[in-house]
Amino acid sequence: MIKNNYISVIGLEIHIQLSTKSKAYSADENIYGANPNTKISPISLAYPGTLPSVNTKLIEYALKLGISLECDINKKNIFSRKNYFYADLPKGYQITQDKNPICKGGHLLIDLEDGSKKKINLTRIHMEEDAGKSIHDIDPYNSLIDLNRAGVPLLEIVTEPEIRSSFEAQSFVNEIRKIVKYLDICNGNMEEGSLRCDANVSVMKENDKDFGIKVEIKNMNSTRNIKKAIDFEIDRQIELIEQGKSIVQETRNFNALTNATNSMRTKEKADDYRYFTEPDLQPLILDEKYIQSIANDLPLLPNELERKFKKEYDLSSYDIKLLIEDKGISDYFQKICKTIKNYKLVANFVNGPIKSFLNTNSIPIDKLPIDRKKIIALLSFVENKKISISSAQQIIFPKLLNSDLEVIEIIEKNNLFFENDFIDLEEIIFKVLEKYPQKVIEYNEGKIGLIGLFMGEIMKITKGKIDPKKINTELKKELEKRKK
Ligand code: ADP
Ligand code: MG
Repeated sequence: MIKNNYISVIGLEIHIQLSTKSKAYSADENIYGANPNTKISPISLAYPGTLPSVNTKLIEYALKLGISLECDINKKNIFSRKNYFYADLPKGYQITQDKNPICKGGHLLIDLEDGSKKKINLTRIHMEEDAGKSIHDIDPYNSLIDLNRAGVPLLEIVTEPEIRSSFEAQSFVNEIRKIVKYLDICNGNMEEGSLRCDANVSVMKENDKDFGIKVEIKNMNSTRNIKKAIDFEIDRQIELIEQGKSIVQETRNFNALTNATNSMRTKEKADDYRYFTEPDLQPLILDEKYIQSIANDLPLLPNELERKFKKEYDLSSYDIKLLIEDKGISDYFQKICKTIKNYKLVANFVNGPIKSFLNTNSIPIDKLPIDRKKIIALLSFVENKKISISSAQQIIFPKLLNSDLEVIEIIEKNNLFFENDFIDLEEIIFKVLEKYPQKVIEYNEGKIGLIGLFMGEIMKITKGKIDPKKINTELKKELEKRKK
C-alpha cells in the first residue's frame, strides 16, 4: 500500500505454541491454564545435573509445518543456547536454533483485498522453547511469575520483508492460523497466546533503494490488533520522517486500549545473546525416510482444498472460502456431500444456520448437539422436495437443537410436508387470476413484475406447503393461456 508516496515494508515473526502433551525438552506436562507453577520439574528449570532431551513431537510438528509451507528441510539440526536473564527465564537461556534452523525458505499464498493471491516468502522456521510468564496485573505491588509455560515447545516462523500493508499482514496471520489448525499442531488461540505475532515495520519513499529503519511491535493478541498496530506505526513513522526526525530502531508495545504503540526498549543486537551450541543435546540427524513418512501423512491444506472444492462441488469462491475456514467444517461438509448431492444446498445449510449456531455459542462443529445423520435426513427431505428449505432452517433445525426428536417426527407434528397431492393448485391459481382480471391483462402486456402479486396471493392460500418453484411454473403456464 502506498500512503503519501511512502511504501510500507513489513516482516513478521510468528510464535506457534505446539499442542504436544509434554514440553520441548522435558516430560513436564504442556497444558494451558493449570494452577501456577505446578507443571515444572528441575529439568525445565535447568537445575545443575539435569539433562534435556528433545521431544520427538517437536520435530514431527516442525516437519509438518515446514513441508506444508514448502521449506527446504535441514537434515542436520543443532540446538543452541540463547542467553539472557529475565525473571521468567530463571535458567538464564532458551534452547533454540541459531544458524541452521530445521526449515529454510518456503512460502505462503495469502488473500488480497481484490480476491487475488500473493506469495510471501519465508526466511526460516526454527524450533525453540517458551519462557515462563510474568504477571503484572494481579498483585498491585509485585510481579508474579508462572513457570508452567517455561519449556513449552514453539515454532517460530520468520518472513522476508515482503508484506506491504496491514491488510496483507493480517491475511498472513489468518492463513498461518488456519494451516496450523488444519495440521493439528496448535490451537491457534491468540488470546491465550498460543499464536503470537511480532511485526517489524518500516516505511520508505517510493523511489528509495534501501528499506527504512524498522521498529518491532509486540503484544498484539488478535489479527484485528495486528492490523491496528501496523496502521498506527506506519502513520507514526511517516509523520516523524515528514518532520525531518529519524526513526529509532526499537521494540514497541501495542496498547489495545489506546490503539497506539509505545516504546519498550531499544533492540538488542544478536551478539548480546551470546549464542553457542547447546552442549547437552546431540546434533539431530533426520533421515529421508522419516521426512517422507511425515510428508505422506499430511492432510489437504486450505489452498489445495479450495482447488478440490472448485472441481468437485462447483461452488462459488465465496461459499468455498467460508467452508474451508475451519478444518472441522470442511470435513463435515465433505461427509454430508457423500449422501446429499445438491452441494449448494449443503453449503448454504452449513455456512448458514449451522455456522451461525456455532459462532453464537463459540463451539466447534464436533460439539454441534445434533447427530450428523439427522442433518443428512433433514437435507434429503429438502433435496427431494418433500419440505421447504425455510421449514428446514426456521422450524426443524431449532427443534433438533432443543430436543431428541427425529426429523420425521418434527415434520409430521408440525405438518410441514408439501402437500402437492392434496391441494388443488390449478384451482387456486384459477381463482386468484379470476380475482385480478385487469392485472392479468397488464401482465400479459409486459408488466411482468405483477407475477409477485399473484405468487403472494397463492402462497398465502397454500401456506407454504407447495414448492414455490412448482407454483411459479404452473402460474406462468396459466397466464400464458390467457394471452390474447
Ligand atoms: P533482526 O536482526 O533485528 O532480528 P532480521 O533481519 O533477522 O532482523 O529480521 C527480523 C524480521 O524483520 C524479519 O521478519 C524481516 O523480514 C523483518 N525486517 C527486516 N528488515 C526490515 C525492514 N527494514 N522493515 C521491515 N521489516 C524488516
Ligand atoms: Mg533476526
